[in-house]
Amino acid sequence: MRKKKQFSNLTKQIFHPEVKECLTCQSRLKRFATLSQRIVITLDGAIQVVHCGYRCPNQGCSTVRRVYRSAEADGLALPGFTFGLDVVILVGHLRLTKHQTVDEVHQALQERLSPFHLTIYRREVMYLFEAYCSVLRAAHQPSDTPHWQTWRAKVEENGGVIISIDGIQPDKGNETIYLVRDVLDFPCPVCRKCQFQRNGGHETDPLARRQTGRPGAGSDQ
Ligand SMILES: [Zn+2]
Repeated sequence: MRKKKQFSNLTKQIFHPEVKECLTCQSRLKRFATLSQRIVITLDGAIQVVHCGYRCPNQGCSTVRRVYRSAEADGLALPGFTFGLDVVILVGHLRLTKHQTVDEVHQALQERLSPFHLTIYRREVMYLFEAYCSVLRAAHQPSDTPHWQTWRAKVEENGGVIISIDGIQPDKGNETIYLVRDVLDFPCPVCRKCQFQRNGGHETDPLARRQTGRPGAGSDQ
């Protein structure tokens, strides 16, 4: 039987939506449910994440059923994953850019996580690399697939999208991976991989200017 991970240094963080007022009627949003409660292992340690969902309290509002989420909470990890997106991105970076073997990546991650008394199995590294490849594939998804059409229908139902852009840099000075997602109700990560030259002041992606900072994302500090 699979042993459950034990966490000695767990930091609890409660996340609320960044949007505070209803986009339709400007009423102050009210908390209506805990969307998720889970543990996320990041390169900065383990976090107990409590993600609170909000709704418009005005029963006469046309978007009273709309759910507002925290972009920061959604940006921590892919749905169903215990390891954070920063770990996923680092695995992909070490495998594809640094051409490291699975064993070398495993060793590097063990060294990064050991100060927090955290461990990772070799098979988890392989699983995270598959996840990285899936995120990259999402960036090139054709718009006629059923998944895309479902997402588009949801966007129309929501009356549009609020985009959150999260820049994750696995190694300082190297390429940054931008994760773009819809904050409203239906998180659908689409990955854009592009170069970001820190010192040259050159941005290949104009959206990069709007990236949202996230503590611990891909930091080597
Ligand atoms: Zn409203």
